[in-house]
Amino acid sequence: MAWFKKQQFTALRATTPRDRVPDGLCAKCAHCGSIVLSRDMEENLLVCPKCGRHQRMNAAQRIEQLVDPGTFVETHATLASKDPLKFKDVRSYPEQIRRYQKRSGLVEAVITGRGKISGIDTSLGFMDSNFIMASMGSVVGEKVTRVFESAIENRIPAVVVCAAGGARMQEGILSLMQMAKTSSLVAKMREAGIPYVPVLTDPCGAGVAASFASLGDVIIAEPEALIYFAGPRVIEQTIRQVLPKGFQRSEFVQEHGFIDVIVQRADLKSTLANILAILTHQEVAPAPSASEAVG
Ligand SMILES: [Zn+2]
Repeated sequence: MAWFKKQQFTALRATTPRDRVPDGLCAKCAHCGSIVLSRDMEENLLVCPKCGRHQRMNAAQRIEQLVDPGTFVETHATLASKDPLKFKDVRSYPEQIRRYQKRSGLVEAVITGRGKISGIDTSLGFMDSNFIMASMGSVVGEKVTRVFESAIENRIPAVVVCAAGGARMQEGILSLMQMAKTSSLVAKMREAGIPYVPVLTDPCGAGVAASFASLGDVIIAEPEALIYFAGPRVIEQTIRQVLPKGFQRSEFVQEHGFIDVIVQRADLKSTLANILAILTHQEVAPAPSASEAVG
């Protein structure tokens, strides 16, 4: 079946939205508003050289940063959403999907596959908030479930770079079911003794935060990422209180015990590799020398 045929991931897809880092000469920091050379921003892994805030990365950029070159093999690349509820607001759900596919270059909100992180064979998922804010519908849930199934089957660790801005309301209860489905697979991984490390990125919310993003053996987050179940405005209106400064940011969430470690993007690959090496009793492969990297 074509759905199950493994495909080699080849090139970065042009998924950069206009309000973040444009493809042109200059890029504007989404946080401090500084204008910097695009090249400088890219060389700095989309971390603003002026204020140090982490800009959002798409899935292809994450793969390029974290996975050893030439080792990533994408899986289930063509798995796409159906329209079980015949949902329609201004546009029908299939029309919304087509528009997001065209705009983002993605088929769905997560890219999955298998690849090496500093030499350690890993089952991988990369969520991309450029696709309907990486909301978790049935395809996202299914693909993440298959990341865990592949990890168990091949006895390799799993890493999922998590992002999400809400539930996929167009799929109703099927969207909510993905929380139970993905969580049950994490439990099976634990029973099988297979390590799983989620990386929480800005924003990581709703059903994803309330399921597999919060269930890892070691939970990593990027600095100042928004991590939440209900959004701050909803909470403020419900409890009628002003929320504390930094509420629902990584640092606040870590202080309250939901995150193990906050890692700067520049250190993310080496930190992941070290954690995976410890959990799987393997050695981290040495980084290629400058001449090897060029060659
Ligand atoms: Zn900045």
